[in-house]
Amino acid sequence: MEKIYMIPVNDAYGESGGCPVCRLRDKAENNYLEYYLGPSLMEPDTRKITNKTGFCPVHMGKLNKAVTNRLGLGLVMHTHLKDFNEELNPKFKSAIPAKAGLLKGRNPDYKQKLNSVADLIEKRISTCPICDNLNDAMGHYVEVICWMFSHDKDFCEKFKKAEFHCLPHTVLLLRQASKLSQNEAADFVDALYSNNSQTFESLIANVEYFTLKFDYRNTDKPWGTSKNSIQRSMRFLSSDGRDFDEQQSKKQS
Ligand SMILES: [Zn+2]
Ligand SMILES: [Zn+2]
Repeated sequence: MEKIYMIPVNDAYGESGGCPVCRLRDKAENNYLEYYLGPSLMEPDTRKITNKTGFCPVHMGKLNKAVTNRLGLGLVMHTHLKDFNEELNPKFKSAIPAKAGLLKGRNPDYKQKLNSVADLIEKRISTCPICDNLNDAMGHYVEVICWMFSHDKDFCEKFKKAEFHCLPHTVLLLRQASKLSQNEAADFVDALYSNNSQTFESLIANVEYFTLKFDYRNTDKPWGTSKNSIQRSMRFLSSDGRDFDEQQSKKQS
């Protein structure tokens, strides 16, 4: 089993609160963001890739926020726009339908041409090397998590004690578990299930308590763990913490 993935997995499960796989994802994502804003920007091989791919909306937003290398970001953007335009422009131009007149008949080909230009744009705007690298790393992480669960007793305990595994990462873990032998999958899925059902129950109870606090008869009761139960539920359902932090809801209320 690959050691380079075992250390971060152990670290993520060593910390408490939230989903450990989200912690792994966040760390890996930050590393890739730093990589793409770092010296790699000037390497022709990396530029060949980013000229073609650009970045997805989520990662453009994150690169924009990480103001460490504005010039680098400008250079990457410049050559990506050029590359995009060089491929798109001639196809776009030739897709402009000719007007049907007396001499020229109707040509329904234009419909297919317009759709293929739309397909080209759609394909190019959705590619992202950070997403690709991240998906690849997550594949290794879930493989290591399953392996460590059945080969490392300490890790097994840590896995069971995780606050929760968010639902998108439960998907990854279940798919990985489907590749295990039946006996290995039995213990792993049993632990994953217990963790999951306890999370559902406690969030349901917490959110209900949160709503009951709005009843004037309960004003003096303590908030307890229900105070941030909405945000915790959102993080559990989505694996995404960006707009679900407790500060955000305070600003709005
Ligand atoms: Zn997660
Ligand atoms: Zn991305």
